[in-house]
Amino acid sequence: MTTEHKGSCLCGGIQITFTGAPKKNFICYCSDCRKGSGHLGQFISQYDSDDVKVTDKDSNLKEFVVTATKSGFPKRKQYCGGCGSTILTLPMKHNGEVAMVRPSLLDSDFSQFAPNLGIFGDVKTEYTKGCETDEFF
Ligand SMILES: [Zn+2]
Ligand SMILES: [Zn+2]
Repeated sequence: MTTEHKGSCLCGGIQITFTGAPKKNFICYCSDCRKGSGHLGQFISQYDSDDVKVTDKDSNLKEFVVTATKSGFPKRKQYCGGCGSTILTLPMKHNGEVAMVRPSLLDSDFSQFAPNLGIFGDVKTEYTKGCETDEFF
């Protein structure tokens, strides 16, 4: 049986289900992700769009299209208008067939989502100089 991973936005207005294992798990440190997520890096998993189901019973889902991208293709960033949580991004380089979802929306079971790749890491390096972890960690 294929595993379903269920999550929601902060207010609970939007439910999301990812079916099966993610194709990739990574942290993106680009400036769009930094601003959009409120974190130094954004935690992202890649799925085929067909394996991602968004339930939006109160029509809270909004979209912001990022047009100035490194790839030259727009990115459709979808978020909850009720609480501001980012739900997913559809990079139009892939005609909407690839969904970059936020595993941070899951309610539990992050075991298949451990990021093992960082992209645009030059930004991370620039911002985390002098931010060494101590021997405790
Ligand atoms: Zn919400
Ligand atoms: Zn990014």
